[in-house]
Amino acid sequence: MSRKWQEECGVFGVFDTKKTSPDISKLTYYGIFSLQHRGQASAGIVVNHDGTFLCHKAPGLVSDVFDELHLGALSGHAALGHVRTPASGESGFDVVQPMQIKSHSGQIAISMNGSIMNASELRESLKEIGAFFQTTADFEVLLALIARNRVATDSLEGAIAKMMTEISGAYAMLFMSEDRIIGVRDPLGLRPLVLGKKDDMYMLASETCAFDAIGAETIRDVLPGEIITITEEGVSSIYTVPETSAHKDGKLCIFEFVYLARPDSFMDGTSVYASRVNTGKALARECPCDADLVVAAPDSGIAAAIGYAEESGITYGQALLKNRYVGRTFIEGTQSAREMAVRLKFSVLKTAVKDKKIVIVDDSVVRGTTTRHIISFLREEGAKEVHLRVASPPVKFPCYYGVSASESSELPARTKSVEEICKEIGADSLGYVSLEGLKASTNGALCGHCSACFDGIFPAGVPAGAEEENK
Ligand code: SF4
Ligand code: MG
Repeated sequence: MSRKWQEECGVFGVFDTKKTSPDISKLTYYGIFSLQHRGQASAGIVVNHDGTFLCHKAPGLVSDVFDELHLGALSGHAALGHVRTPASGESGFDVVQPMQIKSHSGQIAISMNGSIMNASELRESLKEIGAFFQTTADFEVLLALIARNRVATDSLEGAIAKMMTEISGAYAMLFMSEDRIIGVRDPLGLRPLVLGKKDDMYMLASETCAFDAIGAETIRDVLPGEIITITEEGVSSIYTVPETSAHKDGKLCIFEFVYLARPDSFMDGTSVYASRVNTGKALARECPCDADLVVAAPDSGIAAAIGYAEESGITYGQALLKNRYVGRTFIEGTQSAREMAVRLKFSVLKTAVKDKKIVIVDDSVVRGTTTRHIISFLREEGAKEVHLRVASPPVKFPCYYGVSASESSELPARTKSVEEICKEIGADSLGYVSLEGLKASTNGALCGHCSACFDGIFPAGVPAGAEEENK
């Protein structure tokens, strides 16, 4: 409930192999609508209408960006969709996806989630050989690399495979050309991507919840390093990482399980909800608490709080309500304005907390500002004690892999002890689950995990100059 680490994007793509569905843009709309939690700043859809690409995209929520008229105008047999939260420093229409270019070998559109760490270096070297850029966005660099590689390769997949050897970072990307859509997951599988099917349509999405929303079935996770192609003939793949070891050696972002993914999604073989409940149980074993009531930090702490209650035997109840309809709160930089913003967003059920010893379970604490306000509201309403339990370890490192996050210097857990943070937040006690406890909770996942924001071990390296920052 503090300022969250925010996934930058959600992607969705669909290809109708029989070209008979009248509803491609609507399916794409519902797909990105159910991925809205992955990005709220902009939304876009590009469709392939008999070889002509039609696109509508704009800043805003999916439901604000599209209406019936837009969707009616976007007819076709294949589509890509996108939702995005801009990375720090990015703004303007430039960064709104999907993006499309025309190259010697035809049109290509892209919709991506993730971060390319060497994008500026690549941009400079492409400029040196005469490339021309219209935007400041990283994905334009990727399209330029593909267009260049395409000249020397006989397939779009070959050009993408070559690009994958040139870039470093974490990504799930979708491409659309005139006769296919292609999905790509980075060689470590840091960012998620799944394959689904409905009738004669195959689909790719960041999360399985997008398939559930449209009544499609989930087929499988795209493997780390896999380039998966969907055409009229069906699905085919090439593997840049050996198929047999791709999952085992994978490093899916563990923050997907902590907070980013929707609880009803499955990732690399694991239910996100079940892993959160398991983490709550581990937290109860590792950091027990003498309390009358377990409450969740709404809404992302709910599954872990249920697990904590189940394991500890302490009653689970609701004590905090979240107002879902808070839009802009015109927050000024003052302390009281920020407190007012938190009051508008969360309210306390007085009768539930009066004279009680409360343990509040949150999924993660990054800066702790909101948490501090909520704990003080609980005390104002008569809570006798307020203990905070966190279903992830302290966040000590920034993420370079597509989850926008604070600078190292903004992460209190880097320099402060648990006792100091507890005091600042105003809790009676504070406990975090161990990294081992968190990892064990994703038991059953087919892959390994990145946990760099907790342990500083960056499986895909860090951008030039970042070593210093993390010392
Ligand atoms: Fe996920 Fe790794 Fe980034 Fe943390 S550092 S948010 S685990 S990708
Ligand atoms: Mg929360």
